[in-house]
Amino acid sequence: VYRASTVIFPTVQAMEDAQKKKLDTTFYGVHGTPTTFALEDAMTELEGGYRAVSVSSGLAAITTALITFLKSGDHLLMVDSVYGPTRNFCDTTLRNFGITTTYYDPLIGEKIKNLIKTETKVIFTESPGSYTFEIQDIPAIVNVAHKHDIKVMIDNTWSAGYYFKPFDHDVDISIQATTKYQAGHADVILGHIIAQTEQDWLKLKITTGTLGQAVSPDVCYLALRGIRTMGVRLRQHQKTALILVEWLANRPEVNNILYPAWPEDKGYKLWKRDFAGASGLFGVVLNQVQKEAVAALAEG
Ligand SMILES: *Cc1c(COP(=O)(O)O)cnc(C)c1O
Repeated sequence: VYRASTVIFPTVQAMEDAQKKKLDTTFYGVHGTPTTFALEDAMTELEGGYRAVSVSSGLAAITTALITFLKSGDHLLMVDSVYGPTRNFCDTTLRNFGITTTYYDPLIGEKIKNLIKTETKVIFTESPGSYTFEIQDIPAIVNVAHKHDIKVMIDNTWSAGYYFKPFDHDVDISIQATTKYQAGHADVILGHIIAQTEQDWLKLKITTGTLGQAVSPDVCYLALRGIRTMGVRLRQHQKTALILVEWLANRPEVNNILYPAWPEDKGYKLWKRDFAGASGLFGVVLNQVQKEAVAALAEG
């Protein structure tokens, strides 16, 4: 684990050489250390793309990506099934800075073209959606977006970057709440933004630099250790989830299951087309039941 704030160079020449490439080297701790860079390399190997940027949380990865590619007067198309705090950011901070948001149906597909304005600069996706688990037709959305020079971002946390490869579908920016499956042990808060191109990566790196975003090398180390077992953990998550889903599907209290890897799910076909597997998170819609009964289930 490389910990650093100030870095001492042996000569002025060495300092000046390092200064020229300070985005790529340990020049001052805020820009990262070899531990940060090693985790960013691992995240890039996982997701594909040009390169990753580490930030302090998954939510910070989302907000940092949005403010990098939006400015006052711009318009954002945001999926309606998005993670709650992302919606909150659009409705508060982005709105206060003069950026407008339109929420769109996660199942919209290529019809998203009808919502595009001249000011639209970003289409944000999350597939499957938080809580409701709709699978989006990412290739169809990317196809429309790129005709209008609009950036496509994805919150790829559910697939962990292991089961869905955004850059194979020409998505511009992928986002991971590294907190979840990569870290894997509920002891880390961390986020990553992965860019498909060097140009976009530089823009992200400049935003994190100007904002003073920094992550702890110790936290990066924990994520590097966690990610080593991510494959076996995810394969078990999928097995366990399917066992639970089969059991729940036969319960009288259950109205519906929301899990794209379940053949009866309405997203199954798209999931099968675009994903190599499923993580463990799913939703259950219950029939009318007492709150106490739900609590008893959860506590048991
Ligand atoms: C947890 C989560 C986040 C936020 O990550 P934090 O590290 O908790 O800020 C973002 N998106 C999705 C889909 C998540 O599940």
